[in-house]
Amino acid sequence: MSISDALQPHPPHVALFPSAGMGHLTPFLRLAALLVHHHCRVTLVTTHPTVSLAESHFVSRFLSAFPQVSEVQFHLLPLDPSTVNSADPFWLRFEAMRRSAHLLSPLLASLSPPLHALVFDVTLISSVIPVTQPLHIPSYILFTSSARMLSFFSYFPTFASNATHDSAQIPGLTPIPRSSIPPLLLTSDSLFANIVKEDSPKVPNLNGIVINSFEGLEAESLEALNGGKVIQGLPSLFAVGPFAACEFERGECGDQLKWLDEQPTGSVVYVSFGSRTAMSRNQTREIGNGLIKSGYRFLWVVKDKKVDKEEEEGLDEVLGHELMEHMQGKGLVVKNWVDQGEILRHRAVGGFVSHCGWNSVVEAAWHGVPILGWPQHGDQKINAEVVEMSGLGMWVRRWGWAEQVVVKREEIGERIREMMGSELLRRKAAGVKEEARKAVRDGGSCGINLMRLFQEWKTSK
Ligand code: UDP
Ligand code: UDP
Repeated sequence: MSISDALQPHPPHVALFPSAGMGHLTPFLRLAALLVHHHCRVTLVTTHPTVSLAESHFVSRFLSAFPQVSEVQFHLLPLDPSTVNSADPFWLRFEAMRRSAHLLSPLLASLSPPLHALVFDVTLISSVIPVTQPLHIPSYILFTSSARMLSFFSYFPTFASNATHDSAQIPGLTPIPRSSIPPLLLTSDSLFANIVKEDSPKVPNLNGIVINSFEGLEAESLEALNGGKVIQGLPSLFAVGPFAACEFERGECGDQLKWLDEQPTGSVVYVSFGSRTAMSRNQTREIGNGLIKSGYRFLWVVKDKKVDKEEEEGLDEVLGHELMEHMQGKGLVVKNWVDQGEILRHRAVGGFVSHCGWNSVVEAAWHGVPILGWPQHGDQKINAEVVEMSGLGMWVRRWGWAEQVVVKREEIGERIREMMGSELLRRKAAGVKEEARKAVRDGGSCGINLMRLFQEWKTSK
């Protein structure tokens, strides 16, 4: 029986409720596309305006590609920023969503046919469960980071009870050193720490957890989680990754692809720090000079502001005229949204300098592109550890967190040469790609886990 056949004649109706930022929205919409592909009925809960322009373009593109998906617009209560210990616009949105979540109740109750499940963001656990429980709607999260990070998140209440440890010794996992733990989680009273403190103990109250990962990338953590080692009472885990870029995401990147077409196979290093990491000007200029020093051709995406709407200055101002001149003919530098899926797929790309945002890691795995990890914030060091353990790439621990140090051009150039020149890394990354492809083939883990998920949903009503 095929997966879609298993859902007939009454396919489940599932609502998806992502939180802010492309790193959260992207896997939700990829999951939505997968569910539609298997003939589920999907409702997408959206909030407007989105924090970034990239998010609103992405949602519009998705809804035009999938007219069978219903959109429910969720209106948020105004948030007084002075009541929140964070200035990050994405975090402020998380908090606004948490404080407005009770308003979801009538929206969810009115959906027809009744929901078989609500799949929501991890940052909404403690505010959404009180809404879904009285309505008898099964609660699932799509965890938008690695299984290693999920292990840490689930284990957090135990870790926090004795936070002086040098490392998090999670049963079944290679210890996570204190230096890899998201710094905000070690800062009492940060908004992030408060959310995690409140939400992580509630993990056992969920009906299930969906994650964009697969054995070939994260055997250790998935085994520990599935084997019940990490915490008692972990709900069912469904590793339905790897998610790769879908057709509806393909954007305008003609110039970059044309340029890549002209480059030899495996000769280009692609550099991007994701959708919400702006570097200091100093660091940005060191990266530019480091790329020149590496001697490799490069495709570099520069970001000067955390939120794309606030980008004002052009490359000339951000990089300076002199650096711009020096880079002439050596690579391509852009300061706008790129179609990362198409870039990583291109045969000319031989390596990826990445902040190790989880979506970027899985995309690189899908295409077998080796990573030089340069984690900046949050979960990214924990993800970089996965990159290293899986063989997909390497990272330099002494580069620290963003803003701790300015990494110098010589060091950057040297590490890029090391990654681009390593035949061993290339072979290992190709092995991870093979595992990724195996996971989505007939009989692979993605299909098996989706089938388990659908069976749970079918029996939930
Ligand atoms: N992305 C993209 N083009 C860009 C910047 C980012 O397509 O110019 C995509 C990238 O492929 C990934 C997502 O945006 O799917 C970013 O998520 P990730 O988890 O890698 O990092 P975050 O942006 O959340 O830090
Ligand atoms: N794809 C999928 N499930 C996944 C990953 C990818 O169904 O987990 C689909 C993807 O949406 C695309 C196709 O597989 O339609 C091929 O992916 P892509 O073009 O990224 O890879 P290629 O095989 O060309 O390198």
